[in-house]
Amino acid sequence: MPAAQSGSTDRFGRRLRDLRISVTDRCNFRCRYCMPREVFGADHQFLDRAELLSFEEITRLVRVFAELGVRKIRLTGGEPLLRRNLEDLVAMISVVPGIEDIALTTNASLLAAKAQELREAGLRRVTVSLDSLDEQHFAQISDTRVPLSQVLRGIEAARRVGLAPIKINSVIKRGVNDGDDLLRLAEFGREHGHIVRFIEYMDVGTTNGWRMTDVIPAKEVVERINAVWPVEPTEAHYPGEVARRYRYLDGRGEIGLITSVTQPFCQSCTRARLSAQGELFTCLFAARGHDLRALVRSTASDAELKDRISGIWQRRSDRYSELRTSGTAPRSKVEMSYIGG
Ligand code: SAM
Ligand code: SF4
Ligand code: SF4
Repeated sequence: MPAAQSGSTDRFGRRLRDLRISVTDRCNFRCRYCMPREVFGADHQFLDRAELLSFEEITRLVRVFAELGVRKIRLTGGEPLLRRNLEDLVAMISVVPGIEDIALTTNASLLAAKAQELREAGLRRVTVSLDSLDEQHFAQISDTRVPLSQVLRGIEAARRVGLAPIKINSVIKRGVNDGDDLLRLAEFGREHGHIVRFIEYMDVGTTNGWRMTDVIPAKEVVERINAVWPVEPTEAHYPGEVARRYRYLDGRGEIGLITSVTQPFCQSCTRARLSAQGELFTCLFAARGHDLRALVRSTASDAELKDRISGIWQRRSDRYSELRTSGTAPRSKVEMSYIGG
């Protein structure tokens, strides 16, 4: 078997196809389920600038990952648009041989001013996280002073410059936004042609006080929507697609369900994650990462970097969500804001 091929397959035969890159650990929101203010308060120590991978270092790593089979890049955070000149990074990554798709996950608060530049730099798609269309509810959930209207302007700007269809990620939590919010989000998607993806609230990190009883199973979400606007399951766009798709019977678009808790999809997980300071995580729920920054900042060649990354992937045996279901998952985990969703 050629080196590139063996290097891109883990212990369960899963290939390395996607890389999520966190470009900052900072955020202007304090969503309760991700960066609760009690933990991420005024005295929280975020990474210094010198600790962050530079755009050149990220691009070099992307080149190596692409040689190992990565085709899709997603930029995330923290809030990725807090990283200055993010469009420059998009432009640098977009010319890396092998990279076919670059996407961004953002809270959209800073998107209106940046959408055009990002599009011109080569960004293809954007996913906006939005959990409520009610002004007050939005403020409570995101724990931010940014008004909802600013987020909506960001979404509209993205649509206008052709970053469509826009995906809207909504984390549904029991007693928080599982009532009218859920239906309004679905309606918003139907009206504007956005694909709303309902995400099961996850036990990422150790600070959000997750309880299984707070999770609204995707099945319940589908039932609620189906009762108002009938839907039917539709096939995946490609093998291993994370979201389960349902289309509206009246032809007004589709929704996605991300069933990470009730129906884990570890078997087809082809994603690696790179933290803002250059650690490679092979699972969203990993307890620790593998330091690539030290290697990038040493005299190591690209070939050595490739060997290191391919070795890490070959040893990968992560399947946290499946283990959670069977009650045998480990407890120590990295925070979501640190490695991105
Ligand atoms: N700040 C950007 C944003 O919110 O889109 C990017 C980073 S954020 C960590 C990425 C995604 O993770 C968001 O869609 C967010 O809703 C999701 N997320 C964070 N904590 C979560 C949790 N406990 N369960 C499910 N999704 C979560
Ligand atoms: Fe910030 Fe995104 Fe986490 Fe909310 S989900 S606190 S917007 S990083
Ligand atoms: Fe992939 Fe880990 Fe999530 Fe399973 S739990 S789907 S291995 S990131």
